[in-house]
Amino acid sequence: MTSKQEQSPAAAAIPSAVRNYIDGEWVAAEGDDVQPVVNPATGETLVDITYSNTETVDETVEKAADAFDDWRATSPVKRVQYLFDLKQELEDRQEDIAQALTREHGKTLAEARGEIRRGIENVEVAAGIPNMLREGSGNVEGIATNMDEHAVRQPLGVFTAITPFNFPAMIPLWFLPYAVATGNSFILKPSEKVPLSSQLIFEAIDAVNFPDGVVNLVNGGADTVNALLEHDDIAGVSFVGSTPVAQYIYETAAKHGKRVQAQGGAKNYAVATDSAELDQAVPNIIGSAYGNAGQRCLANDVLVGVGDVYDDLRAEVLDAIDDLTVGNGLDEETDVGPLITGESADRVLEMIDDAIDEGAELVVDGRDFEHPDYPEGYFLGPTLLEGVTTDMDIAQTEIFGPVMCLAEADDLDEAIEMVNSTEYGNASSLYTERGNEARKYRYEVDAGNIGINVGVCAPLGFFHFGGRKGSFFGDLHAQGEDAVNFYTDKTIEIQRWYS
Ligand code: NAD
Repeated sequence: MTSKQEQSPAAAAIPSAVRNYIDGEWVAAEGDDVQPVVNPATGETLVDITYSNTETVDETVEKAADAFDDWRATSPVKRVQYLFDLKQELEDRQEDIAQALTREHGKTLAEARGEIRRGIENVEVAAGIPNMLREGSGNVEGIATNMDEHAVRQPLGVFTAITPFNFPAMIPLWFLPYAVATGNSFILKPSEKVPLSSQLIFEAIDAVNFPDGVVNLVNGGADTVNALLEHDDIAGVSFVGSTPVAQYIYETAAKHGKRVQAQGGAKNYAVATDSAELDQAVPNIIGSAYGNAGQRCLANDVLVGVGDVYDDLRAEVLDAIDDLTVGNGLDEETDVGPLITGESADRVLEMIDDAIDEGAELVVDGRDFEHPDYPEGYFLGPTLLEGVTTDMDIAQTEIFGPVMCLAEADDLDEAIEMVNSTEYGNASSLYTERGNEARKYRYEVDAGNIGINVGVCAPLGFFHFGGRKGSFFGDLHAQGEDAVNFYTDKTIEIQRWYS
């Protein structure tokens, strides 16, 4: 054990290898590219990951395609029994998953536990698929003489999901339960930076005993993704990640004739008016901007004070930042964990410096933060900039770090114009006690998710989840009824019987 490992509090057991799960078996990944998976709080290497090569992808798709015929013929009522069992297996393992998640990602244990609950929620919602499959299918009897017409939902084959680093346990579960409950087989390609939570989720899947080949895990990087995108037997692709990659996935998958839903990056503003209940709003604003160390697609990293509220808002934000504790997510008192990599921390530092060059004022400076116990960790202290205007790069580019920008607007119209100035449309929040302001905001802000006095407006599993503009490429979003529509197609059956 290295000295760094000794510094990690409550070091729970984590998987000792990153393996693939193909056709019901755990197998070592094959490929030439081997990379370390690093605990961002300590800099320690947790395990190595091998990026799967094209042959492995081909074999996995073949096994998943073989499994499809029988799985499709299994009744939805029986299919969801596996999900009921999976829910229980995940419930039983949630603390182990949370510990692994915190160690590979850096988020706090409380955040990790909350994330797993949101993932399990999707398993629960997808367990209602027999009922959801009925919706949207019409039956018209006697449409002409002796003639009936029905619309019947059918699964499409093998689906894959390619997921990002920031919610390693939850985001795979936005897709996996819906894809398999609707009768498809499925391949997960998790982020190569955080493969450990998926190992534990697939241990739960293995315990549930899905028929071989129905649910598969392939670890890897961009080449692994490309092999999936180009494979003839992949019917559809779900993606979550940064906007340039989302756009690439959308175009490439579509070019290869696949269904595709690609969720991209974000630039989310929060706005507070003079009617906001600041005592309630400010903790919420802080949680949104600095929670998950700002590495959240729903994080509001710009806060606009409208008119007179600005000075009080600024003062309360400063007090709240003062109370934040930065550290290893395994320490229960930590509020803000590290960034995922040293490169991420450098990128955010550069954004702060550029913003200062462009005229923003640094009010809280977290740039030189060093944790005495974790000198190798990729930490940044909470940072606050003010005087930020929409022509600055930092007002238009996703920060994905523990940095918030303060801006001012004379009225709500100006604030909404600022919110809508970015190329993204994932989320936005308004803090107000006035119904007419809330209504105007909901109506005029061009974003897929709007929070009124809610800073992280993540929809529950039975609603769809997705953004607009540069935050989403495709038509049907993740979760809920959109997931059912994405993972099935409707066949029209017209029947005539002569006697
Ligand atoms: P990323 O785009 O770097 O990686 C996401 C996935 O794409 C990974 O599995 C990775 O292996 C793969 N990938 C990366 N580069 C690729 C390439 N050139 N070709 C093919 N595949 C490639 O994203 P990330 O850094 O892991 O995640 C952070 C981003 O995800 C942020 O922009 C965040 O806003 C976004 N995000 C969006 C949502 C949403 O719901 N819209 C949710 C979570 C995260």
